[in-house]
Amino acid sequence: MGLYHCEGIILRTRGLGEADRIVTLFTKEKGKIEAVARGARRPRNRLVGVTQQFSYIKALVFTGKNLDQLSQAEIIKSFAPLRDELLKMAYATWWAELLDVFLPLNEVNSDVFLFLLAGLVVLERVPDPMLVSRAFELRLLKYLGYEPVLDRCVGCQNAAGSFAGFAPSEGGLLCRSCAGASGAQLIPVRPAAVSFLRSLYQTDLRDLARRPVDPALGNELGHLLFTFIQLRAEKTLKSLSFLQSLLAWKPPEADLN
Ligand SMILES: [Zn+2]
Repeated sequence: MGLYHCEGIILRTRGLGEADRIVTLFTKEKGKIEAVARGARRPRNRLVGVTQQFSYIKALVFTGKNLDQLSQAEIIKSFAPLRDELLKMAYATWWAELLDVFLPLNEVNSDVFLFLLAGLVVLERVPDPMLVSRAFELRLLKYLGYEPVLDRCVGCQNAAGSFAGFAPSEGGLLCRSCAGASGAQLIPVRPAAVSFLRSLYQTDLRDLARRPVDPALGNELGHLLFTFIQLRAEKTLKSLSFLQSLLAWKPPEADLN
């Protein structure tokens, strides 16, 4: 049996039997791993507090025959606001599900790890995460090798002229003639929204977090990215439905009379 130290962010936890918990941990050193935290569902167990979703922990892991085992862990950063505020929790869960679905187990990806860590730091502080999340979604697609083509027609590669829309199945924008020829499903998108989206490849998340949020733009880009991501995921993303239902829900108007 081996033993290793790692630092990681808890993407997901699920119960195992009555007392244990399996954590999906995205580590800097080993990529995404699964490990069992023995006794982590018993109230006074030392692993209870350190195995909460989104916690950034330092851990000592035993490699087992079937499942690795989390032996010791301590919190580096708890990211408590991501569990305490419903909207932030919904965004963080969505990001975690993206990594859970798209990253294979045991594949080291320290760039994505550092990007997630930086993203969660911004998410914890930003008043309205909508555009920060669009940037996170787009950049993550790029890291994963699914970068949408936003600067030319994905069919004929022509960068000049106007585009008919974004074709999720083709992975990018289509010009009018390619759109007509392909018959692909198109999402109409305004040129201004495309150039904003393109700028998100370079924008620092911290700078973006300081800017006012344009909800119409966020929704337009959300429709495009969600459709694209959903198609690539090839399975229903539960956290996305939850996030969308939360964003659609409006509190009843206060009675001002
Ligand atoms: Zn074309």
